[in-house]
Amino acid sequence: MAEQKHFTYAELDAFLHGDLPVLKRLRCQLHLHGCPQCQGLLQHVEEDNRLLEDGLMRSLDAYKKENDAKT
Ligand SMILES: [Zn+2]
Repeated sequence: MAEQKHFTYAELDAFLHGDLPVLKRLRCQLHLHGCPQCQGLLQHVEEDNRLLEDGLMRSLDAYKKENDAKT
């Protein structure tokens, strides 16, 4: 397993969302098993996604409240 290319942020993001083709997904999973570097990056992507979701939910709440106040 020489010269295995590391996965990028975008690839791991797609992996998390199930947007990767099956073969690539499998390769990614296998690679992650033996690569702390990509595991770390995946955690980073997960964190970003969580923050993004939190932010979205919060602005949705704020938007709803604003709308309620208007009506
Ligand atoms: Zn890697």
